Amino acid sequence: MKQVTFHNTLSRKAEPIVPTKGNVVGMYCCGPTVYAQAHIGNFRTFLAQDVMRRVLQTAGYKVIHVRNITDVDDKTIARSIEEGRQLTEFTEHWTQIFHADCERFNMLAPQIEPKATEHIAEQIAMIEQLIQRGHAYASDDGSVYFRVSSFDEYGKLSRLKERQLLTDAPANDTPVDSDEYTRDSAADFVMWKSRKPTDGDVYWDSPWGQGRPGWHLECSAMAMKYLGNNLDIHSGGVDLTFPHHENEIAQSECSCGHEKKFFKYWIHAAHLLVDGQKMSKSLDNFYTVDDIAAKGYPPVVLRYALTSGAYRQTINFTLDTLGAAQSALVRLKKFSDELLAEAGLKRASVLKEIAKGKHLHDDWDPFADAWKKLTHDMNIAGALGAIFTAIKAKPGPEALIPFHKLIFALGYDLDQVVIEKPKVDVPEDIKILAQKRWDAKQAKDWATADALRDELAAAGWKALDRKDGFDLEQL
Ligand code: AMP
Ligand code: ZN
Repeated sequence: MKQVTFHNTLSRKAEPIVPTKGNVVGMYCCGPTVYAQAHIGNFRTFLAQDVMRRVLQTAGYKVIHVRNITDVDDKTIARSIEEGRQLTEFTEHWTQIFHADCERFNMLAPQIEPKATEHIAEQIAMIEQLIQRGHAYASDDGSVYFRVSSFDEYGKLSRLKERQLLTDAPANDTPVDSDEYTRDSAADFVMWKSRKPTDGDVYWDSPWGQGRPGWHLECSAMAMKYLGNNLDIHSGGVDLTFPHHENEIAQSECSCGHEKKFFKYWIHAAHLLVDGQKMSKSLDNFYTVDDIAAKGYPPVVLRYALTSGAYRQTINFTLDTLGAAQSALVRLKKFSDELLAEAGLKRASVLKEIAKGKHLHDDWDPFADAWKKLTHDMNIAGALGAIFTAIKAKPGPEALIPFHKLIFALGYDLDQVVIEKPKVDVPEDIKILAQKRWDAKQAKDWATADALRDELAAAGWKALDRKDGFDLEQL
C-alpha cells in the first residue's frame, strides 16, 4: 500500500515516488513572498503541498519539508520603503500573519523554513562556483548573470525547445534583471543585482560590489543546503515552472558540475481563478482567509473548497462552493463523532496516534478505494467520492482508524466544523406545556415542574433551561 504516484512535470508522466535515500522524502516548496497577506490562490498551492506531505507520511515515509520565506525581492523592498519601515521588521510582520493563516488551515509546519536574507553567503558562494565553471558573468555595473547558452539542458522542465524558443541567444543579448518576467524566452537572467538608489539601505557586500541576490537564486542555494542529499520533490504553483524553476535547475546543476540532478519530481498545482483570470494581488481580484471567515465560513470549509478539485486543474472560485463544502464536512464530522462515541475515544487522541505513525500497517478496509485514489496523483475528488460511498454502507467500528487516517491525510480539522441543529417547528401544545413548566420553576413549585418535565418527555421533547428562558429540543 506504500506506493504513491504523482504527475512529474519533468517527465510529463505519473511516476511512483522512489526516494533518493531509504524511507526519507525531501520536499522543497517555494514559499511566500512576504509583502502582504497571502491570498487564497496562494493557499490553493500551499494546501495542495500540505496534502502531498500528509499523504506521503500516511503512506509511511518520513518527509523533510523545506519551505522558504522570500524576504528580499523587488516587491518587499518597494513596499517596505513605501511604508517607511525597515525591511526586516516589515517582512517579519507578514511572515507572522502567514504562519497564523497556515495554522488556521491546519497545515503542518515545515521542519525547515529558511529565509533568503539569512543565506546570503550561500548564494554568493553559488555564484562564485558558477563564474568559475563558466556559467555566469559579471556585467559592468556589478550585476551577475547566468549564461543560459552554457547549459544545454536549459528549458527541459518547461519544454522551451519544443515550443521552438531559442536557448542559444548570445550572452549579452538583453539579459533580464527583474525578479519576475513573463518573457517566454531563454534570456540570461540575473543572480546578483548591483545596488540601485531604489533599494534604499537594502544591500550586502559581495565580490562584485554592493547589491542583493536575485529571486531565483535563493531556492537553488537553500534547497542544496538543506536537501542536497534528498533531492526528491520540488513544487510550487504552475506559474513557477518558467522561469523560476527552470532557472533554479540551471543554477543548481551547473554549480555542482552536473554531479547531481536538481530534484527528481517536479509537482505543480494549477491556479485558482476568479472570473476566468488568475487570482492575484496585481489584478486585485483576491480573497484572504479573513474575507471568507467574515462571511461565516471557518478555514476548514475553505480548505475543503480549495483542495477537493483535481490539483492539476484550474478552479474558478465562487462563494457558492462554500455551502456544498460545509455540508460535506458536516457529513464527515457526524460520521467521525459516531465512530468516536462508540469507541469512547476523542478525535484529538486518535489523530495524534495516526500522526505519530502508530497505525501505519492497519487495514484500509472499508476505505481501500479512497486511499488508492488519494495515492494516485492525489485524486482528492475521487477519494472523497469513495469515502462518501463507504459511509453510506454504514460500516462498523473497524472504520474508525482508516477513516481518521484519511481525515489526517486530507488535513480537515473537523473540530472547526459547526453542525447546526436542524430547525424544527415546535407544536403549540408543547410550547404551552414548556411555558407552564418554566413558570412552575420560577415559582419554585418543583413538584409541578417535574411532572410537566415528564409530560414533555412523554411527548418526545426536552426543555433546556437558560438563565432567562428555555429552548426546546426533540428527544
Ligand atoms: P508568491 O507569494 O507570489 O511567491 O506565491 C506563492 C505561491 O502561490 C507560489 O507557489 C505561486 O505559484 C502560488 N500562486 C500564486 N497565485 C496563485 C493562484 N492564483 N492559484 C494557485 N497558486 C498560486
Ligand atoms: Zn523557489
